[in-house]
Amino acid sequence: MTLPFLNIVKDRPQPSSRKSTGDLNTTRLINTITSDLVGMIYRCSIDDLGTMEFVSEGCLKLTGYRPDELIFDNRISYGQITHPDDLERVNSAIHAALSADNTYDTEYRIIRADGSIRWVSERGVGVFGANGERIAIEGFIQDITDRITTNKALHEALRRYRSIFENATEGIFQTTPNGRYIDANPALARIYNYPTPEAMIVALQDIQHQLYVNQSRRDEFVRLMFEHGNVRNFESQVYRQDGSSIWISENARAVKDTNGAVQFYEGTVVDITERKYHEEELRYQASHDILTGLPNRMLLMDRIERAISRAKREEQKVAVVFVDLDHFKLINDSLGHHVGDRLLLEMASRLSSCIRSQDTVARLGGDEFVLVLTEQSDEPGVIHIIRRLLEVIAHPWIDEGHEYSLSCSIGVSCFPCDGNTADTLLQCADAAMYEAKDAGRNTFHFYTPALNQTVTERLELANDLRRALERDEFRVFYQPRVSVADGRIVGAEALIRWQHPEKGLIAPDSFIPTAEESGLIVPIGQWILNEACRQNRAWQDAGLPPISISVNLSPIQFRQPGLVDAVIGALSQSELAAKYLELELTESFFMQDAERINVAITALKGLGVALAIDDFGTGYSSLSYLKRFPVNHLKIDKSFVLEIDTNPDDAAIVRAIITLGHELGLQVVAEGVETQANYEFLKQHHCDEIQGYYFSRPVPAPTMELQLQKMTVIA
Ligand code: C2E
Ligand code: MG
Ligand code: MG
Repeated sequence: MTLPFLNIVKDRPQPSSRKSTGDLNTTRLINTITSDLVGMIYRCSIDDLGTMEFVSEGCLKLTGYRPDELIFDNRISYGQITHPDDLERVNSAIHAALSADNTYDTEYRIIRADGSIRWVSERGVGVFGANGERIAIEGFIQDITDRITTNKALHEALRRYRSIFENATEGIFQTTPNGRYIDANPALARIYNYPTPEAMIVALQDIQHQLYVNQSRRDEFVRLMFEHGNVRNFESQVYRQDGSSIWISENARAVKDTNGAVQFYEGTVVDITERKYHEEELRYQASHDILTGLPNRMLLMDRIERAISRAKREEQKVAVVFVDLDHFKLINDSLGHHVGDRLLLEMASRLSSCIRSQDTVARLGGDEFVLVLTEQSDEPGVIHIIRRLLEVIAHPWIDEGHEYSLSCSIGVSCFPCDGNTADTLLQCADAAMYEAKDAGRNTFHFYTPALNQTVTERLELANDLRRALERDEFRVFYQPRVSVADGRIVGAEALIRWQHPEKGLIAPDSFIPTAEESGLIVPIGQWILNEACRQNRAWQDAGLPPISISVNLSPIQFRQPGLVDAVIGALSQSELAAKYLELELTESFFMQDAERINVAITALKGLGVALAIDDFGTGYSSLSYLKRFPVNHLKIDKSFVLEIDTNPDDAAIVRAIITLGHELGLQVVAEGVETQANYEFLKQHHCDEIQGYYFSRPVPAPTMELQLQKMTVIA
């Protein structure tokens, strides 16, 4: 309020004007009131300076100046108090209002006596003289700093909230209860693939039918809103504008009016498609075998349980079929895991081809597969499927140009006769499978209660073996190898026995497979290697004629990186010359993976030890390895030798092996020579050495020592 207007002096009689200025009493009254008012009433002359003619007591509080300091510009003019930045704006606002004969109403800043800045609101009106000329202006000025500050804060808060809304990465929405958008932020439009929120609001007129893939999700959303007034992490699949679908998670609440009626829903949306994908992936990984993609044990158990529940309801049967590949360990150990993996993949797909879509093939691990058959699970139906399984597994498998023949052993258990839980059925099928293995493999067996015993025994055996090693219960027996030419003992095979504290002497066939399965064959094999070398050296030290000692190696030992070191250790500990040690490897061992085998064999040969191929004739048909590997002995398997004099086929095979061995420059040993007739035949066909009961059974070291002392000539 700074315009130069009329002169009015406080308490002076007022000149007439269109607006009555009141008499003295009125003035006093006003004065009384205004002294208590928060604000300042003023009258200001219309002159160049805008001189205050009257200001109420509120002046001091408002401006920090006393009224007398302001009146007639005694100390300072009101124009000087007005903030210079606002001065012009205020003047023109007042001027414009007065020219239009209006009241004015303006807000601006003043600088108080103490230098502080306050916001004020000024309302005023022109006062006219008797001739209608404008003689002064009168008005009221009030401190509105608090309101302005509050307003500013409010404005700032609103601006911030809007910014959060506009820039949030979460979608934010308000919708009507019947499924139309009231408001949405850009993030929501982005999530649903619309160019703008406005475009989305126009396009999506019916959320339930246009948005949700599964429309009942919207019903569920509304139900939850009705019951709880909110939804938390509500996940659903929705369509985007381009027709693709994504997964979202919503948090929302119902906003109600004072009567409790729902006005709208508001909430947030996040795109959880990626998380869902990962969750799905994790779920898949947790329930499937990585190599074959078949269900794993966890999912299998679930499938069996489900099959049992369904079968209970429908009074049906369930068959659990346990399939174990025969000799897979051997292939895996001798050919390497990469071949083993390819083989498992192939077998998995063959097994899968035998079942119907509602049935399951799972991989338990290793070479163990389990099928769950739901329908046709009566015995003839199951047998039909099993025969097919045996057939497809036996089909030759060709890998990188090599042909392999495989077989499997199968055990079957049934719900309800053998059990009513997944665990029991699986255990029973497992036991039945072992029975099939014992029955010679490549066959199947149904579970019978007596089999439980077998399973327990097998588990106990592995534990007993571990203890036997600790308690030093293993013994080495020696079976002489005799030269056919002069009947002299040229070597002996070290054969392990288990001196069981209760069961007596146990032959290796009944514990070597378990030792191989459990990995115990490695320490056991190391023990016999050390013992055989030590014994052989002891005989030499006793002045007996030096012989070669043969030790059987399991393929599992051969895969151990420490095998060569173990042999070096046994030789150096016993101080036995390497040429008096021979290692026997079974034929199947040499099948493939020539390179890897070659490295180990070359290392062993480098030490100077001899090598023999054991059980020759029972393994795989490829003979090419005979040329490749520097072996010393071929040991003809005893199954060909036992009936050599009566069975013409065996005779022909043995003759052929001897010829083949000699052609390749190898010494041929016949195992299992039991009779004079066997011996005669072999001698006649120039077999180099024999081993068998005819000459001697495997015997303990002292007996062997006696034989060496006698060095009997049988020729
Ligand atoms: P193998 O290496 O072929 O051993 C020859 C087997 O034939 C021995 O059985 C021996 O007692 C038996 N035998 C010898 N002469 C005759 C005979 O005239 N007639 C008959 N019917 N059999 C005869 P054994 O000692 O029971 O060993 C069986 C198999 O156990 C061995 O076959 C070998 O594969 C394995 N084995 C034995 N000791 C060890 C060992 O220390 N380590 C490993 N890894 N395997 C071993
Ligand atoms: Mg042997
Ligand atoms: Mg043998």
